[in-house]
Amino acid sequence: MSELTLERLRADGQAFTEEISRESYLAHSGRKPVAEFKPIYDRYDHVLGKDALDLTLDLFKDSAKGTEAHRSAALLLDWQLDSQAARSLAELDEREIAWESSAYIEAPDGARVQYQAAAIEIANEKDRTRRLLLDAARADLVQREHAPLRLERLQREKDYVESLGIAPSYNSAFEEISGVSLSDLAVECHAFLRETQPIWDEALPHYLKKSLGITPAEATRSDALALLRASEYDAAFPESSLQSSVWRQLREMNVDPLAGGRIIYDVGDRPGKRARAFCAPTRVPEEVYLVLRPHGGQSDYTTLLHEAGHALHFANVRDDYPFEYRWLGDNSVTESYAMLFDHRIQDKGWLLRYTELGSQNVDDFLRLRGFEELHYLRRYCAKLIYEVEAYGDNADWNDLPDLYVETLTSATNFQYRSADAFVDFDPRYYSTRYLRAWQLQSLLSESLIERFDIDWFRNPAAGPWMTRELWAEGQRETAEELAERIGLSGEKLSFAPLIRNIGKLLGA
Ligand SMILES: [Zn+2]
Repeated sequence: MSELTLERLRADGQAFTEEISRESYLAHSGRKPVAEFKPIYDRYDHVLGKDALDLTLDLFKDSAKGTEAHRSAALLLDWQLDSQAARSLAELDEREIAWESSAYIEAPDGARVQYQAAAIEIANEKDRTRRLLLDAARADLVQREHAPLRLERLQREKDYVESLGIAPSYNSAFEEISGVSLSDLAVECHAFLRETQPIWDEALPHYLKKSLGITPAEATRSDALALLRASEYDAAFPESSLQSSVWRQLREMNVDPLAGGRIIYDVGDRPGKRARAFCAPTRVPEEVYLVLRPHGGQSDYTTLLHEAGHALHFANVRDDYPFEYRWLGDNSVTESYAMLFDHRIQDKGWLLRYTELGSQNVDDFLRLRGFEELHYLRRYCAKLIYEVEAYGDNADWNDLPDLYVETLTSATNFQYRSADAFVDFDPRYYSTRYLRAWQLQSLLSESLIERFDIDWFRNPAAGPWMTRELWAEGQRETAEELAERIGLSGEKLSFAPLIRNIGKLLGA
């Protein structure tokens, strides 16, 4: 076979990525009972082997920092690591998907609940006794069958990355390639938890009592699901206008929700469909799937807004950019576009215009959103702190379930279960992408207000600007670079604007 060139790596790498993405879309949306990743990996053997890794490592090492060549090489190297690790785990992933789409939990009353729908069922269960029993049955199944699969995947992925010798440890390899300092981010997370502890201590008992009639001492993670599901507001967020409300808003800001037919919405219920919504670009920018399984009420609106942000991003990337800028890069960027939209659910002007909440309910609803925002941020800070420990040199996998329960429970006050220690775990530090996206989203939002006013979301000049200045660029830039280009007066990524926003919402 002829020697692998950068050109060939890009062309075949893209074809490979498209096929993997299509296969996961089909399996996770319930259109196929099982995923068949292995044949795809085998077909693209030549861009997933030692040659390909060596080529990207050389490109990375031989290019000067700060050049376009180095930028491109870093993205390709990160992708190689990801794909080669995933390749060695393909069989495990196939097994997990097959298991997830066929597993059932036996509810205490004899009902059978699809494992995929357990989170929906628990969040919607108003009878607390049944909710707790349902969650216990779920945790039991996770402990026996799902956790071992995930643990094996985490261990093997870590061993694989370490075996490549890019840096002395898993964590330093991640930092080297991503440019994200895990220790700095963990310090920020600790500070966030400390700083927001007083407002959390004040808000939590109020909402637990008001929504569920319980005290902080008895609250569990399944109660958190029910509390944040906020079904009391369902009437204001009818499923029948979910898509039309979001589409109306996008059209008002002069954005085509379908991106000229490049975005395909898959928002109906279907057995085997994952509870967690996702966006699957199968060709960038030509073909992007948005997949959502309805839970009901406001959470579906938040989710659709979030996934629409991803879909619009991928469907509007410049088609003359190379593979790595269209497909790869710092996912904090795409997550920030998704969060920029999903945060409209805490925007008074947006709520009054596109939902049936009405001015008599909107302030109560905003305060609840402030509580929710604080909860999720505290949960994600704790997850990052836990994951840094878990991937660290001194970690013992056997001790992790206890560490998980302790870290997550103390940050959120909701009692977590040790069974979830390896399931509620974002491999390869996806939590760093979320946390930085959260920070970037608040800077983008301030910048949009400055440019297009407080109701930028319905300003017909805002859509074309976002398409051109943000989405078209793909993920060529890092979150930091984007903050510098778009943000106001050089404000850096931090939790500060998020804390200000939470204070404002809770005081609404
Ligand atoms: Zn997302």
